[in-house]
Amino acid sequence: MQERVNKLRELFSGEGIDAFLVTSPENRFYLTGFTGSSGSVLITDREIFLITDFRYDEQAKKQCPHCTVVMAREGIPEALQELVQNINIRILGCEGEIITYQQYTSLEEKLAAQKIKPLYGFMDSLRAVKDHDEIECIARAVELTDRAFSHVLPFIRDGVTENSLALELEFFMRKNGAEGIAFPFIVASGQRSSLPHGTATEKIISGGDLVTLDFGASLAGYNSDMTRTVVVGKADDQQKKIYSIVLEAQLAGIRAVRPGVAASEVDRAARDVIAGHGYGECFGHSTGHGLGLKIHENPRLSVKDDTELKPGMVVTVEPGIYLPGWGGVRIEDSVLVESHGVRVLSTSEKDRLLVCGL
Ligand code: ZN
Ligand code: ZN
Repeated sequence: MQERVNKLRELFSGEGIDAFLVTSPENRFYLTGFTGSSGSVLITDREIFLITDFRYDEQAKKQCPHCTVVMAREGIPEALQELVQNINIRILGCEGEIITYQQYTSLEEKLAAQKIKPLYGFMDSLRAVKDHDEIECIARAVELTDRAFSHVLPFIRDGVTENSLALELEFFMRKNGAEGIAFPFIVASGQRSSLPHGTATEKIISGGDLVTLDFGASLAGYNSDMTRTVVVGKADDQQKKIYSIVLEAQLAGIRAVRPGVAASEVDRAARDVIAGHGYGECFGHSTGHGLGLKIHENPRLSVKDDTELKPGMVVTVEPGIYLPGWGGVRIEDSVLVESHGVRVLSTSEKDRLLVCGL
């Protein structure tokens, strides 16, 4: 954790700041290990202050021995005001995309002698490359997701609702160590499977339906994310054809993942396959995204993101084809960029369109 803070400090001079104020839960956890729901972190060139309130005082001291825990008796701006009297800070950076206007004006008022500088995505590049501990956590969350998929397969049949499958997945993951779900699960069946983000409903699944399940666990603060599309009862030729194109695109995307490659090139590799089969218009989202403390992180595997992939990045590869009125197919794995290539973390079967409910 100290190493993460040191790397962050190296970025200070480039932005012309003397200290950085962290208010987002993910960045707070990343730098301190503190799991409480309230608190701010002030990183100066020498110290790490974790400012929290009475409810978390004891917990913060236990979880964050490398931090100076400051108990805010009034509010965080007031505590900061007291703190900066003894520290030489001229320019204080803050998370521009997180801080509210109210918090910002309050800081400006209390820290009249300091300049408050909002920075955007300041920690994103740091967070994009995962360290060993983070990779372990994500791998554990991915493994649980694979197990949950095996568990839910026998439940997918004619007559069950999408919601019941979403709940079955959640129940299994919570019972097996997940602290929560990574996001509201997508269980989109039949014609609804053409909705890329069709969260589960009370719709009853029928024979012949494609069912797209997109789900993940939250474990030790980290998320997993996987999609599989299956069919109930029997697959028709069109379903098999669309599935094989999406699989071909997904495998091409995974093959393109290696250090030094631009994120946009992975997107192109997958997109070209789908376009080559004439379905370019039916794949309207990006090919993937970084994964970690948040479900969507940098880099984005999209046409617009030329970030160079580096060892330690964990990204998803998830192309899809969506045909309104018919349905859709998406296949998503979480993959790790390694020094010589790629390691696919998700292990759930995907080689063919699985038929369920027989
Ligand atoms: Zn997903
Ligand atoms: Zn995803």
